[in-house]
This record gives sequence, C-alpha cells and structure tokens, in this order.
Amino acid sequence: MKDLQYYITRPKVDAHNHLNLGMRYSSYLEWSGMPIPNFPRKMNGLDDMHDVIARYTRPRCQTADDVTSLIDMSLNDAIADGVTVLEGSIDIGFMVHFHKDVEKFLQMVSGFVSRYRDRIDFRPELGFGKTFDKTKISKWAPALMESGSFKSIDLYGPEVEEGIEDFKYLFTLAEKLGIKKKAHVGEFSDAASVRRFVEFFDLQEVQHGIGAAADDSVLAFLAERKVRCNVCPQSNYLLGAVPSLKEHPVKRMLDAGVPITIGTDDLLFFDATVSEQVFDLVSEGIITEADADRLLAEGV
Ligand SMILES: [Zn+2]
Repeated sequence: MKDLQYYITRPKVDAHNHLNLGMRYSSYLEWSGMPIPNFPRKMNGLDDMHDVIARYTRPRCQTADDVTSLIDMSLNDAIADGVTVLEGSIDIGFMVHFHKDVEKFLQMVSGFVSRYRDRIDFRPELGFGKTFDKTKISKWAPALMESGSFKSIDLYGPEVEEGIEDFKYLFTLAEKLGIKKKAHVGEFSDAASVRRFVEFFDLQEVQHGIGAAADDSVLAFLAERKVRCNVCPQSNYLLGAVPSLKEHPVKRMLDAGVPITIGTDDLLFFDATVSEQVFDLVSEGIITEADADRLLAEGV
C-alpha cells in the first residue's frame, strides 16, 4: 500500500480552505501564544465551532498584521502538504482590519501570490459570510472582484435558502468577470438544497455538497453539469455531519461521476491535511488507490 509520503509528493489542489483557519494548531499556537483548551477535538456541529471562534480565534485577530500572519501560516502549511494549487478563501469581513481600504487589502492579497509564486499556485478566493453586514459587502465586493485578484468567490454561513436572493448579484457579477462561482451547501442540508443552490447561483463548484449523496437524481445532476464538490471528510466527521469516516459518502459521489476534490476546510480545527485525508480514506478502505489518484488529479 502507498504510504502517506506518496500522497504528500503528488501534485494536488486544496479548493476548500478558509485561510484564516487554515494552519496547523501547532503553527497557530506558536504565533498566538493563546492555547485553546482541549483542542483540536470532536465538536457538536457548527455552533460548537463558532463558540471556539468567538472565544479564542476571533479575539486574537485584531489587525491587518494578524490577518496577514494567519494567511501566511496557512500557505506554509499547505506547501508542507505538497499542495500545488491553493484556492484559499479570504473573508471580506477582514477588510475592517485594513481600515476598509480596498487598495491595502488587495496589496496584501497580491503580495501573497507573488511572494509564494515559486512554491505554490495561490488563487485567492473572496469569501462572503451570509450573516456579515450586507451594506458593507455591497460597498466593497464590486471593487474587490473587479480588481482581478480573486479567481473565485464563495458564499457560506447558515445553510438556509431564506435570503439567498440578496447575494445573487455577486454571482451575476462573478459570471460577467469570469470569476469561478462556489457556495457552501449540503454540509448539513439535504440533496434538494444542493440542487437549488447550484441552479439559483449557477454554481461551478459546491463546498461540501455531501447532502447530495442521499439522492441519486441529484448526484446525476451534479455529474451531468460537472459541478465539482470540494469535500472535507475530516471536517464532516469532527463536526458530526457524518457519524464516522467509514460512513462518509465520498465514494458514492465519486462512483456517480461527480468531480470531487478533498479539502481541509479549517486545518486548525480538523487537523488533517489533504494528503492525510486521502491516505486515511484509502487505509480505512473507503476508497481505492485508483480513486485516490483520481481525486488528486482533479483540479491540477
Ligand atoms: Zn468550509
């Protein structure tokens, strides 16, 4: 059987990585000096995770330098895992730490791309939280997207359909600018919601999407439209979206012909790199070595 090192040395994408939480806990702890008790650990859904964020990680991120340090750690830990293409998301809310200065924010983003060019193909993604101030989003997003610095957008937050029409204009603009369209859905929500999000926003990619596995017709829909799902098995397990790794539907999705990549989501919380997750899926007999090679080839 191929060892972990094999998967580390394969070229690969991480297309689901929130860069403010994308580093190892050890990297984070050394920088922050603020331990998070009993961590990383299994959590009881997203509320539990957001509680840790509210108590520990958000208070530690107060300045533009903090944001820059967090992203820098995430890039280094992706490189250490042999990630060659990183579609890493930067939350638009971090603009507040840049004194709402679009130019300064963009300088930080493009600085990372050029500084790391020899080591990783970093493709910045602009992330929108559904619960963030919509007036601020509408004020900042067009200029950020039109800058050409962001190669994709991602919408996340509570997986409810109520109010999603408020974000439609971002996806219309992305389409016009040739920016890839992604959104989080189907992490805890059902197959029908995955289909509706894909149709409503004309998504090219879904972050998670595992809810689709409960309905063959939705899997066929994703496969037919070639909608890639950037799946994060360890995140799904530690947040309780699946009862165990063994019961993760990634194999069902693959076998249905849905394009799949494995992402880290938040390495700080879930503590498993892309290579480690692929290795675990093979070692636990959830996918075959051929499946693993197919997963890794997707997106590079
Ligand atoms: Zn995510």
